[in-house]
Amino acid sequence: MDENQLLTRLRSLRRAPNAPHKPLFLLWLLHRFATSGSTSVHYADVEEPVGRLIERHAPPTPHVRPDRAAVPFVQLERELWEVRDGAQRPIDPDMRESGRLLRERDAHGRLREPVERLLKDSGTFEAAWHALLTEYFPPETAKAVATDVAGRDLGASLRYTRTVHLSRHERDESFEERLREAAIDWLRELTRQGDGTVTLRQLTEFRFEDKRVPLVNPPKEIWTPAPLEAALSILTTYTPPGEKPPYADAEGPDGLLRYKYEGDNPQLSTNVALRRAYERRLPLIWFVGVDRGIYLPRAPIWIAVDEPDQLQVAIALTEDQIRDKSEKAPTEIERRYARQVTRQRLHQPMFRTQVLRAYGERCAVCGLPYQELLDAAHIRPDSHPDGHPVVSNGLALCRLHHAAFDAGLLGIRPDLHIEIHPRVRADKGDDPVSRHGLRELHGRRLAHVPGARRDRPDPTALEARYRDYQERVARSR
Ligand SMILES: [Zn+2]
Repeated sequence: MDENQLLTRLRSLRRAPNAPHKPLFLLWLLHRFATSGSTSVHYADVEEPVGRLIERHAPPTPHVRPDRAAVPFVQLERELWEVRDGAQRPIDPDMRESGRLLRERDAHGRLREPVERLLKDSGTFEAAWHALLTEYFPPETAKAVATDVAGRDLGASLRYTRTVHLSRHERDESFEERLREAAIDWLRELTRQGDGTVTLRQLTEFRFEDKRVPLVNPPKEIWTPAPLEAALSILTTYTPPGEKPPYADAEGPDGLLRYKYEGDNPQLSTNVALRRAYERRLPLIWFVGVDRGIYLPRAPIWIAVDEPDQLQVAIALTEDQIRDKSEKAPTEIERRYARQVTRQRLHQPMFRTQVLRAYGERCAVCGLPYQELLDAAHIRPDSHPDGHPVVSNGLALCRLHHAAFDAGLLGIRPDLHIEIHPRVRADKGDDPVSRHGLRELHGRRLAHVPGARRDRPDPTALEARYRDYQERVARSR
């Protein structure tokens, strides 16, 4: 049995949708497991507390029985649960559900060993707890059920399980935060040089407190390395040119980007781990694929909102984008702000990385090979409706040539030849930069264009931009 099979089993208990005896009993067993480490129990210990839960949360029946806990104790599916008598003989699920009989035979049971083993994983435990609550109880009573089972008012059921688990494992809460901080610092150091990208191989080399902790684990897209309980990183797989990147369409009504859950089960441990990062406001790392095995890291990011109904979360690229579910719908201004943040923090760095890579980290005009001095210039400005952040709308230019291009002192013809403004050409100053860096380039072909045809400058965009240049030259005469 694996986690998915366990959750499916829990969500399809026979007869439970009409009479939640079994879910209530299971929740009680889970609580017992969390507090004592075992689900082994005698019927005599179950009758009173489970009977009370059933009385409070199952639909009323004409005959009130003090031994109603006997029903789930006997009937609970044997794939999950085993029951034996005092002589260790198995008790069948078709035995009469009588508290007296069960006590006489010293009936005792426990969740099967594979089930207990799965529940030792706190992600699976929490997923199981949540599955039982959401599958069999309406949202307005689920919280009361959780509180009744727990015996203490600790608010939301999820927070409750987490508290139990943390105290049980005596986990160091700050560990989650310290590891994240260290990973983000390490990435920052790693990407200080170069075009901002990291390789898959590098990402497996991160170490924390003398242990290797891989920061990604493809093809898994939501990654929670072993010592952590909340997701550490999310991954967007590389999209070859010409295909639409997955994030392009993923903007929500609030302007924030959406990231899809793994599969279609919100209770899967990967998705639960993602939700945990949201609930604890923990930072994550987003790795966006820019080539095969090469990623642009964005960190820190946060989960802004969890949307289990739509099997997705919203991504916050700044901490102030984290929202509460209760908050009202975002205004147009907030939407616009969100888009602007996306452009600055995601699209522009992506654009720069991809353009620089396509041009072999050299200036298209002069060939200068220092990426520290290179920009990704837009051919059509990003304020223009066609000014998309795609490589064919970009040029890798050194700082000088980028500024000259934007100022209209340097034009690029659609046939990829360079023109220098007549005023600069007429200037007889003999400093080396105006001479070699500008005047002598007039009439030359671009020094560098990408090898791949699809990455080369879009002729339509170049033509429009060249017309602008010509108009500016004409106006300055
Ligand atoms: Zn240059």
